[in-house]
Amino acid sequence: MTVPANHFGRFYDKVKQFDVTGKTLLIPNMAPFATRLLAASFHAVGVNALVMDTYKGLSLGKEFTSGKECFPCQVTLGDILYFLRKEKDRLGTAFSPERYVYFLPEADGPCRFGMYNKMQRLVLDKFEDFRDIPITYVSTRNSYSAEGIMPPKASAIFRKLCYVTVIIADILDRITWRVRPYELRPGLTDSFIGKALEALSEQVELYGASLGLKRLFEIVEDTAATAKTFIDTRAPRRPLIGIVGEIYVRTHPESNQNIVRVLERFGAEVVVASVGEWINYITYDMAREQKRHVKLALLKRDFVSLRSALNDLIPTQIEKYYQIVRQKQIYSRALNHLDIQKDHAISILEKRLDKDRLFSFDIGTESALSIGAALEHLHEGYSGIVNVYPFTCMPSAVCTAVLKPLLNKMRMPYIDAPYDGAIQPNREIALRTFLHQAKQHLQSRNSGKRNGKVKCHIKP
Ligand code: SF4
Repeated sequence: MTVPANHFGRFYDKVKQFDVTGKTLLIPNMAPFATRLLAASFHAVGVNALVMDTYKGLSLGKEFTSGKECFPCQVTLGDILYFLRKEKDRLGTAFSPERYVYFLPEADGPCRFGMYNKMQRLVLDKFEDFRDIPITYVSTRNSYSAEGIMPPKASAIFRKLCYVTVIIADILDRITWRVRPYELRPGLTDSFIGKALEALSEQVELYGASLGLKRLFEIVEDTAATAKTFIDTRAPRRPLIGIVGEIYVRTHPESNQNIVRVLERFGAEVVVASVGEWINYITYDMAREQKRHVKLALLKRDFVSLRSALNDLIPTQIEKYYQIVRQKQIYSRALNHLDIQKDHAISILEKRLDKDRLFSFDIGTESALSIGAALEHLHEGYSGIVNVYPFTCMPSAVCTAVLKPLLNKMRMPYIDAPYDGAIQPNREIALRTFLHQAKQHLQSRNSGKRNGKVKCHIKP
């Protein structure tokens, strides 16, 4: 085991954007449907992407970190080490590091997510056989543009295709969560949605490059229509629980110890904040910042800066409207048949922050979305909020500090669910108690005590 002398040089040489065509792109698993369709989108544009087994290498992830890192960093590090060790055992002397590229996106902002790929570089460099495996990424800095990792034509197609597949994956999740708690036969929904995912992946791989999306939309519509028939219509509606929090842990079932299924087992219907919400937020926030530059240039009467600011803003605004229209279009195909939860418009979430009184998009991070979404759920008839996050996550701690007293005051059941890979023996009891409160909340509303509405002091 050797450690290179110049770590900083490695951050530029071996953590970089370059054309990954012809390589095997190793993707860590996050939201299972979205990750699977992301790999299919890569295949559609000629990149051989492979989703790695997940959570099997957690002990490795923990062994090569100090314990101060964020939990998603430990999980993804474990995934890559586990995969590479297994691959090396499988191939023996034929193992060739040049074949692989590790894909680990990053964020530009106050969070540690921007440093995961650098930190993991240091760990991979400790292994002689893995030192030559480069890490590549897309970043929030340019709204996850893929132009740095594939040719321009492919990157333009990939960007549109990826957005569509993220939204479709969200809808598959929402169909599952709407139907599974009421299914006539246990297992029916999961097995059916699994097949739908296969069909969608195949369609994306074969026809995604031509952006022929019609068939994809038809599959979404058929899936919603068929899944609706699985519902036992005699079953009473359960209390609706909204899960907000940190995106990796809330969407990665292994990391959150399958909290959706646990809550369903205790009698809930659950909706987790979507992946699309985060993608939309990145574009929204970028447009927001660029509008600020336009205003500043106008105030200073600096017309050179104004022109450059407008040149930045116009494509972002076009992208923002593209996302709004596309998302509505795809959701409407499912909503024609099944009353899944619609996704939140980011502008509405910003309004829920009550003119920055409760939190501000200027501070950013996922706290802005989680606080906004939890308050929006108050107005949507939810009966409880769970904040799911990695233990020691900074934005989630902020979110807890704001939401806990606020929701308590409004008598909305709320619970924090931090995860770090350990089994907490009292978690089940805490979730059961929370569900009991949520059921009472629903009963109270149904019995008319609240006149059909949740009392809310937050202005719309
Ligand atoms: S959001 Fe939380 S878990 Fe993610 S990088 Fe930031 S502090 Fe870490």
